[in-house]
Amino acid sequence: MKPKKKDIRALTKQQLRQFFEKKGDKAYRGDQVYEWLWSKGVHSFEAMTNISKTTRQILEDDFVINHIRVDQIQRSTDGTIKNAVRLHDGLVVESVLIPTPTRTTACVSSQVGCSLDCRFCATARLKRMRNLNPDEIYDQVIAIDNESRLYHDRPLSNIVFMGMGEPLMNYNNVIKAIEKITSPDGLGMSPKRITVSTSGVPKIIKKMADDQVRFQLAVSLHSAIDQVRTSIMPFNKNFPLLDLIESLQYWYEKTKSRVTYEYVVWKGINDQKKDIDALLRFCTYIPCKVNLIEYNPIDDGEFRQASPVAITNYIQALEAKGVVVNVRRSRGKDIDAACGQLANKS
Ligand code: SAH
Repeated sequence: MKPKKKDIRALTKQQLRQFFEKKGDKAYRGDQVYEWLWSKGVHSFEAMTNISKTTRQILEDDFVINHIRVDQIQRSTDGTIKNAVRLHDGLVVESVLIPTPTRTTACVSSQVGCSLDCRFCATARLKRMRNLNPDEIYDQVIAIDNESRLYHDRPLSNIVFMGMGEPLMNYNNVIKAIEKITSPDGLGMSPKRITVSTSGVPKIIKKMADDQVRFQLAVSLHSAIDQVRTSIMPFNKNFPLLDLIESLQYWYEKTKSRVTYEYVVWKGINDQKKDIDALLRFCTYIPCKVNLIEYNPIDDGEFRQASPVAITNYIQALEAKGVVVNVRRSRGKDIDAACGQLANKS
């Protein structure tokens, strides 16, 4: 039986150079192929026109290019675009292009499904099927960059890891994808324009701090009271808030980078004074800001957006303590592209 062909994009540039040397070719052939794969983003060996036919055949014999395919594009009335992305094994994830007057943000997925169990999130119902490879994450970004140029006449400006999945549960691949996105032989984007959003895995937050990563960190907090948080994000039982705080303090010490807390206010769940007081206390531990996110209903169930009064109470209390707070309106709701709505309905 023929051995299974390897995904060529799992190889580093160095490994590609070694591959060609072993075949009796020049090492720089590896650089050329690498450029085709990453800067030019070709989908086939045939498209590598400065590589000889014989060499292309050698590659063909040993490797595949597991490129993603954008199966379906949905466009919202507000300019938001959602891509249904088919992976080489047939599974599907979603990514979103979010335009504002001054920027285009790509919201990308890091896993097929999700290993966490947040009760208000549609993706959680899919369960985790597998982690995305670095190139599958990178390809989503390239697809959105192309769409941004096509529909909005400008390149992509920002990336958020707020699509399907928990990025810190697929840390190694997310880091490799970000390295590629920020590297001059990839997209060359500044890490400051990239935000990784997590429900909070303390051990990995500390590792990120040790790794001296330079992207932004956002934590989906939603409640600063353990009991409440566990009731809506059950995994909080294993990673209680004290551990989260400790890891965030470690993060700030090492990176001096302010953390954003994402927070949805729901009727009857976290809309009382005690909830606000707990958040105010939480905000004293390290420099931070709060994004209040609008709730996007995923069914007719128990979660309902809190009243405008409750939200104003949050804003006033936070501002009185000098905490920066933004209210984030949702985009792309008509095509199920808003936060927490990604679930492959198609
Ligand atoms: N797993 C990561 C990233 C994915 S979710 C994380 O937890 O941060 C991106 C953001 O959308 C998170 O802040 C998440 O809590 C929020 N979210 C999930 N479901 C939502 C919903 N139905 N309405 C509004 N925000 C939601």
